[in-house]
Amino acid sequence: MPFPVIAVELPDWIEDYVEQHGRSFATRHQRMAFAIGLAAENIARGTGGPFGAAIFERDTGNLVAPGVNLVVPSAVAVAHAEIIAIALAGRVRGTFDLGADGPTELYASTEPCAMCFGSVPWSGVSTLVCAARDEDARAVGFDEGPKLDDWRSALQSRGIEVVCDVQRDAAKSVLDRYAEGGGLIYNAGANR
Ligand SMILES: [Zn+2]
Repeated sequence: MPFPVIAVELPDWIEDYVEQHGRSFATRHQRMAFAIGLAAENIARGTGGPFGAAIFERDTGNLVAPGVNLVVPSAVAVAHAEIIAIALAGRVRGTFDLGADGPTELYASTEPCAMCFGSVPWSGVSTLVCAARDEDARAVGFDEGPKLDDWRSALQSRGIEVVCDVQRDAAKSVLDRYAEGGGLIYNAGANR
């Protein structure tokens, strides 16, 4: 039997969401609101975990690519929102280096897990902007993996700007809502 192609599709509602909310935002608060809104919509529609991400051009605020967590529906353990946004942005721009055509920013509704942290330097983005802290994700049961204690400095030492706590409360309330609604906590081995 041939192996299947790896294809992870965004949920259908994303196009409408972008249509409704726009694809260009002047401020970091607005760009983060877009990413948190993706997380909220992802749980409202039942299409994945409570995490959203987006990549914007730093200087214009134009959306390059959205991302949502698709681990459960896609049966892809690495389909975290940041990974989806990075992968999609590369396909949109036709290059793996998301800094090749000018600086870009990655917005994450929750601080990156160990894997997503690792993906940031490979992506070529100039800036990482986070809302909820990883302790907020851990508080509802998600495993964030073996992250460096000083992960911010590790990125900054590579010239990547890190901005935290942008609309933390709004993102945290999405995590809490997911947990209160009985959302699946899909850590490896947790549901056997
Ligand atoms: Zn992750």
